[in-house]
Amino acid sequence: MAHSPEIVILDLNFQNCKNAIASYLIPYKEGLILIDSGPGSTQEQLEKNLLDHDRDLGEITHVLLTHIHLDHAGAAGWLAGSGAQIFVHERGAPHMLDPTKLIASAARIYQDQMNVLWGDFLPVPENQLTVLSDGDEISIGHYTFLALDTPGHANHHMAYLLDDICFSGDIGGGRINTMGLRSLRIPIPPPEVHPPKCRKSN
Ligand SMILES: [Zn+2]
Repeated sequence: MAHSPEIVILDLNFQNCKNAIASYLIPYKEGLILIDSGPGSTQEQLEKNLLDHDRDLGEITHVLLTHIHLDHAGAAGWLAGSGAQIFVHERGAPHMLDPTKLIASAARIYQDQMNVLWGDFLPVPENQLTVLSDGDEISIGHYTFLALDTPGHANHHMAYLLDDICFSGDIGGGRINTMGLRSLRIPIPPPEVHPPKCRKSN
C-alpha cells in the first residue's frame, strides 16, 4: 500500500443513540471522501463531527454510497448542495435523481415517524451523480477504490475496496452493541433481501 489511509469514524448519533449509524471519513490532499452520507435527520450531527475535526462540509468532494437506503444515502442530495460528487450503484442512480418513489415506499413502513427518523432526502443533480457498475475504479487523489456489485441486502449495493480495506455497507452484517449482542447479524430489510445472494456477496 503506497499510502496507508487515515479513516475517521463519524458517529452520527442517530436518534441520540451512539454506535447506531456512522459514516467513514477519509481525508486526502485535496479534500475529504465520505463513505455513506447517513440519513437526512443527522445532517447537523455530521456537520458538528466535521467541525470537531477542524473540517467543514465544503471540503467533502466525494461521497461513495454503499446503497440507497435512507440510513446510508439520505443526506447525499444535501451534500451535493455543498459541492460533493455522489457515487452510486447503477440500479440506485434513478432514485438518487428522483427519490419520490423511494420516499413513498419507506413512508409505507415508517408512516408518521418518517420525518423524525429520516429527515429530508433531497435529489442529487444529474451532473453531480456518478453511476457505477461492478468493477469500476474510482481514483481520488492517490487513492483508488474498486466498486464491487454485492447484492443480497439490496440489489443496488456496492462494497468498496481500498487496497485491503473493505467498506462493506450492509452486506457485511453488523453488531448492535446497544442491544448487548456479540454476534454479527445481517440486516434483512424488505423487499429485496435475498439470503443466497448475501452469502455469495460475503
Ligand atoms: Zn440497508
